[in-house]
Amino acid sequence: MSPQEQHHPGEGPGDGTLAVRAGLPEPVKYEPTLPGPVFAAHFHLPGEPTGPYTYGRDENPTWTHLERAIGTLEAPGEATVETVVFASGMAAISAVLLSQLSAGDAVVLPTDGYQALPLLHEQLRAYGIEVRTAPTGGDAQLDVLDGAKLLWIETPSNPGLDVCDIRRLVDAAHAGGALVAVDNTLATPLGQRPLELGADFSVASDTKGMTGHGDILLGHVSCRDPRRAAEVRRWRKIVGAIPGPMEAWLAHRSLATLQLRIDRQCATALELARVLADHPDVTGLRHPGLPGDPSHEVAARQMRRFGSVISFELADRARAERFLDELRLVDDATSFGGVRSSAERRGRWGGDAVAEGFIRFSVGAEDPEDLIADVLRALDAARKAG
Ligand SMILES: *Cc1c(COP(=O)(O)O)cnc(C)c1O
Repeated sequence: MSPQEQHHPGEGPGDGTLAVRAGLPEPVKYEPTLPGPVFAAHFHLPGEPTGPYTYGRDENPTWTHLERAIGTLEAPGEATVETVVFASGMAAISAVLLSQLSAGDAVVLPTDGYQALPLLHEQLRAYGIEVRTAPTGGDAQLDVLDGAKLLWIETPSNPGLDVCDIRRLVDAAHAGGALVAVDNTLATPLGQRPLELGADFSVASDTKGMTGHGDILLGHVSCRDPRRAAEVRRWRKIVGAIPGPMEAWLAHRSLATLQLRIDRQCATALELARVLADHPDVTGLRHPGLPGDPSHEVAARQMRRFGSVISFELADRARAERFLDELRLVDDATSFGGVRSSAERRGRWGGDAVAEGFIRFSVGAEDPEDLIADVLRALDAARKAG
């Protein structure tokens, strides 16, 4: 356990305690602890149409519980932080960009961020918004901030696992009058809390580690400024990118085990990275938790856990494909952050600037010794077959 992970009494509840209780309503006799999903397109509403619950696209009590839960994890002890849940991570990302930017504004995005961001570039440009990009590593986005309305950060970046200094970028952006949003998907709020580091928006695809079972798509936006939160909420209402009540309820249920899952997955990821660091077939190994990784120094300052994803290169495309074929405990699948380990040859999608033998590996909740043995066996078999 790294020093950051230890819970010190007197600092408020620890992550596990927060996670199991997050967002639960006050106990009501004969009611369940976590009320079930509320399936409603509309609510009984005689007289003046005032909230909280009027029509199913605007608000839903199952979302309310989940939004409170996520808010508790994003900013423990800050009751005024607002969270808005969405049907997917991309819905949440688009909601921030499209509710905050208008024609004539400039936005700074990462060159090495999530693979659907370039699709958004096209759309933003079509709306008359200037799109500037720079890499995550080395805080290179600082160089193109001048006069921008919004800075979009993704750290650790996906899939390259570069890390930037959130606080440093936030200070520079705010000094120039720009807002800052952080895509916190890879870290989850247990890995880092962007709002505490000064960001205006913490955004995530909860499809990944937050819900962790690979069975739902979901996203969220958390922010402190109630006016900005209202703009994001308004965007959800206009576009209708709302989560189903069942998905929202499943997500809330999954949050109870967030600390257990993330601690296990992050610890095993670091263990696997250490083993691979000494392996002759592996090059370009990246994990922010590895001392010596280019991301480690900044990550150790701003992250509380280093994430469950590692990346590395094998000799070529054929070797990488054989390695994936040979794995028995690891699904050959995209996405990450789930309880079942998965890995993929990232180059098969195109779009990411990665080598043909580049593997993104998401570490699940299996026993570390079983997983590591499986990986080492698959590496061996892939070499022998070659
Ligand atoms: C997956 C992912 C997204 C998109 O989320 P969806 O839930 O698939 O819409 C955005 N950002 C990052 C970093 C992601 O990994």
